[in-house]
Amino acid sequence: MEKQLNLLKKELQQKSIKMTRQRKEILRLFLTQTHHLLTASEIQQALRQQDHQMDLSTIYRNLETLASAGVLRHIALNDHIARYELVTAHHHHHLICLECNKTELIDLCPFQEINQYVTTQTDFLPTEHRFEIYGYCKDCQKINNQTIDDIFQGRKHS
Ligand SMILES: [Zn+2]
Ligand SMILES: [Zn+2]
Repeated sequence: MEKQLNLLKKELQQKSIKMTRQRKEILRLFLTQTHHLLTASEIQQALRQQDHQMDLSTIYRNLETLASAGVLRHIALNDHIARYELVTAHHHHHLICLECNKTELIDLCPFQEINQYVTTQTDFLPTEHRFEIYGYCKDCQKINNQTIDDIFQGRKHS
C-alpha cells in the first residue's frame, strides 16, 4: 500500500502536484476498496468511518486535481453521477446498481473477439471501449424484492 502510494506520489511530483494529506487519504481509499469506482459522497462516507471529515467540495476539488494529473480517471455513466477510478486499474467492466448506485467490477471482458476483429480486419485502431451492466445489487434486491417481483410479474403477463 505505502509502496503504491509512493509511486502515485512520484507520478504527481512529475506534474508538479503535491501529495497532500487529503489527496493521500483519497488515494488510499481507491487502493483499498474493491469496487474500483468511487463517487465523491462514497469517499466522504468512507473517510467519515475512519474519523476523517472532508467536505464534498474539497473532495471534488482533489478528485479533479488528481484526474488532471492523470492519476484518476473520470467515468461518466448514464446516470450522470461523477465516478472516478485509478488509471492504473487493469481492464474491467462494471455492474451498477440502479437503486443505491453502488458499483462492482467484473474481470471478464466480452469484447476481446471484437477487438481482435477490428484490429485485424479493419484499418481502425481501437483504444478503449465501455460496457456496463445495470441492475440491482444484493442489498437492494432484498429491500426491493417486492418491486422486482412486480416488474417481473408485469413482464410475464404482457
Ligand atoms: Zn444497491
Ligand atoms: Zn472490455
